[in-house]
Amino acid sequence: MDSTTDLPKIDFTSNFQNIIGNALSSTPETRQAVDPSTEELLYPVPLSKQSDVDNAVSAAKAAFPAWRDVSYDERAQYILRYADAIEANLSGLQELLMKEAGKPISNATGELGFALAHLRETAKLRLKEEVIEDTEERKASVRYVPVGVGVGIIPWNYPVLLGLGKLGPAVLTGNTFIWKPSPYSPYTALKLGEIAAQIFPSGVVQVLSGDESLGPFLTAHPDIAKISFTGSTATGKKVMQACASTLKRLTLELGGNDAAIVYDDVDVGKVVQKIGPMAFMHSGQICMDIKRLYVHEKIYDEFLAGLVQVVKSFKVGGGGDPDAFLGPVQNSMQFAKVKDLYSEIGKQNWQVAVGGEPVASESKKGFFLPPTIIDNPPDDSRIVVEEPFGPIMPVLKWSDEDEVVKRANNTNMGLGASVWSNDIAKAEKLARRLEAGSIWVNSHFELSPYVPFGGHKWSGVGMDWGIVGLKGWCNTQASWVRKTF
Ligand code: NAD
Repeated sequence: MDSTTDLPKIDFTSNFQNIIGNALSSTPETRQAVDPSTEELLYPVPLSKQSDVDNAVSAAKAAFPAWRDVSYDERAQYILRYADAIEANLSGLQELLMKEAGKPISNATGELGFALAHLRETAKLRLKEEVIEDTEERKASVRYVPVGVGVGIIPWNYPVLLGLGKLGPAVLTGNTFIWKPSPYSPYTALKLGEIAAQIFPSGVVQVLSGDESLGPFLTAHPDIAKISFTGSTATGKKVMQACASTLKRLTLELGGNDAAIVYDDVDVGKVVQKIGPMAFMHSGQICMDIKRLYVHEKIYDEFLAGLVQVVKSFKVGGGGDPDAFLGPVQNSMQFAKVKDLYSEIGKQNWQVAVGGEPVASESKKGFFLPPTIIDNPPDDSRIVVEEPFGPIMPVLKWSDEDEVVKRANNTNMGLGASVWSNDIAKAEKLARRLEAGSIWVNSHFELSPYVPFGGHKWSGVGMDWGIVGLKGWCNTQASWVRKTF
């Protein structure tokens, strides 16, 4: 297909079906997810069973040999045409993402724009063969060959970015790909699958929707070679266990409890403006949101007061509110979990700098919670130890470098960490002592399709994105050629 004008118009308000072998595929039973801003049921989506998984895996397996033999450059062209086709459908996708994820429209637009740019940049990456030895007698090289049928299991917080962020590297390296969205946010994935069916050869990109039984069908399937999972640490452990029986390749992008350490030499007014959004973005429901903020005791009071003002300026509202910066918690399960953490405020006597326990109201719909800062709670309190994944965060005092590094590293989590200072060399030196997959100085959210992203310790195994991410979708092959007998 040469032009995106040839694309049939996608209907974003009905007909949500699985995509198997480039065809829409229904299931006898359906389910519905909920709009977290209104608590209203959204559209019916397929409830896939073992037979749907078997059909998708057969189509992916059949498509694999031919797709593997397509050149890198041609596969990249398919990805670029796919990105163009997505762009042609942007407004429908934005509206859908806003509804399913509970994202204010600016946030939904931002995710889609970022995901699209990411996909296009990914298409420029190439995994090159490495020649180790080339003499008159022999040549030895290392190749990276696609694993076969790959699956991306995606959480509900960034359904588009995380889905396309796995699809791009998987198909670029010559794998066929099955996308399993979260049951809480299946809508954009199904429509992105419908668009993909207009672009890619049959079986190269497929999408399956279902309930919590679907992931285990996939991790157990003998003809799936690789699972790339993003989600909680608890589920990641189950996925790893399930994949062991068929020795699947595995990438795990798991939970985080990111620390940010602020020195006393920063410009407080500037830094609170940056850190506020990096802690509360998407109502705290980003794996790499700042979740423990350590501020030097010399500036603690001034910094906290400034941060409180920033947080007070965040408007909380539903998808339909154009001025909202923070939306609701994404689903009822997560809402109950985060509310339980808020209920500790009174029980533990935590000092609240802004926000506090929500006041229940029968008439108010939506899973909304007030953005909340807990002022210097004990290091062993739940708000410091657990990943809240909601709009609540502790700010803690520090005074000694060795001690703050120890406190920041005193967790099983190791996704990201940052250090903030006007003295870049000092900050970088401290950052390099932090146990995390990404370390930042004077930032916390730098990401690039060229730089790998992933976690240390219980925050993950392997990394997505960049050349490291492409290698994760491949088996390494040693190639020996004897030139003389
Ligand atoms: P989750 O672990 O509950 O679910 C993630 C996905 O796994 C969903 O698609 C779900 O249906 C599926 N799943 C559930 N049980 C399964 C099983 N037994 N086998 C296979 N698949 C199964 O996570 P969530 O609540 O959707 O997402 C929030 C979590 O994700 C947070 O902990 C957050 O930090 C983490 N996260 C991590 C990253 C990262 O890049 N490291 C990015 C975003 C979110």
